[in-house]
Amino acid sequence: MRDSNREWVFAQRPDGEPDMDSFELRAGDVPEPHHGELLVRVRYLSVDPYMRGRMRDAESYAEPWDVGDVMAGAVVGEVVESESDAYEAGDLVTGNGTWADYSVLDADSVAPVDPSVADLPAYLGVLGMPGRTAYFGLLEVGEPKPGDTVVVSGAAGAVGSVVGQIATLNGCRVVGFAGTDEKVEWLTEDLGFDAAINYKQVDDYRAALDDAASDGVDVYFDNVGGPITDAVFTRLNLDARVAVCGQIAHYNDEGVPTGPRKLPQLISVRAKVQGLLVGDYASRFEEASERLGEWVAAGEITHRESVVDGLENAPDAFLGLFAGDNIGKQVVAVSADGL
Ligand code: NDP
Repeated sequence: MRDSNREWVFAQRPDGEPDMDSFELRAGDVPEPHHGELLVRVRYLSVDPYMRGRMRDAESYAEPWDVGDVMAGAVVGEVVESESDAYEAGDLVTGNGTWADYSVLDADSVAPVDPSVADLPAYLGVLGMPGRTAYFGLLEVGEPKPGDTVVVSGAAGAVGSVVGQIATLNGCRVVGFAGTDEKVEWLTEDLGFDAAINYKQVDDYRAALDDAASDGVDVYFDNVGGPITDAVFTRLNLDARVAVCGQIAHYNDEGVPTGPRKLPQLISVRAKVQGLLVGDYASRFEEASERLGEWVAAGEITHRESVVDGLENAPDAFLGLFAGDNIGKQVVAVSADGL
């Protein structure tokens, strides 16, 4: 039924950890697509840690939201009205939309979705931005070599779970940090990680690393920062590479955290630490999508999505990222069965 639309609006900047006060669900009319645009019925929407950065009134790589803006993010959906020659009603597409029942997407920036390759939520995870982040971040910044030990933090999340599997495909020994025993079991039993550490059950991360990565760390793919990263820095091997992808442990901090300074650890091992932004690889996204699609189709990469049902629960799904509620990619089912 295309008679009304609900959308989540950014209602208040959070101070520290966000809560429901930052979100307001509004009802309104279904938007009209203009020339070059598609009206899409959202099937699934993505919630991502980077959205916390957009809630802050500070310059960053992702533009800050103004209070009153509709929450934006990646969606998978079905075209219901097309003002573009490239797509017609009924096509499934993925692109940047909004937390809404109906969203208007720019036809030039969407990609077609093929449900025979993978279920729709996978297009927000392994076959979407997180998968591409894992692909370029590990291969271009981490530069893994066969026999290397690769350590991944946030290992059971959307990016981390793919990083570990690509590292395994490249002949590396892979160790993950994750926050529950269920996640540890998924990593080691299903995804082929050689070892995984439940950091919420361990007091001494360095001792845990000595057990799990006894030859030291050649590549560290960092999704979280904080004390896990402090510990990994003390176990880096000669010429180690550190890919700084995310720092979710700090996203709710209101100031720059200080504390033990770990840079001296990098000197004697001549480690290279590099930040990465997936958008820098935009000209090569097709290559990554093709390769990841092949790995998924061949069963060489396993993926999983945590699905929260209902647009009304989108903020809960987002807040759950900071509590570690998700295994694999967190998505929200808005109209999962279609029209
Ligand atoms: P995830 O699916 O990994 O979800 C976040 C996970 O982070 C949670 O499940 C939780 O798992 C873990 N976590 C939350 N708080 C902490 C904490 N204080 N310490 C340790 N772990 C914590 O998210 P994504 O895969 O989408 O993103 C992973 C990281 O990569 C994020 O930091 C994100 O911002 C970044 N990113 C960067 C990109 C870039 O271009 N640079 C692009 C995409 C993502 P657990 O149970 O293990 O604690």
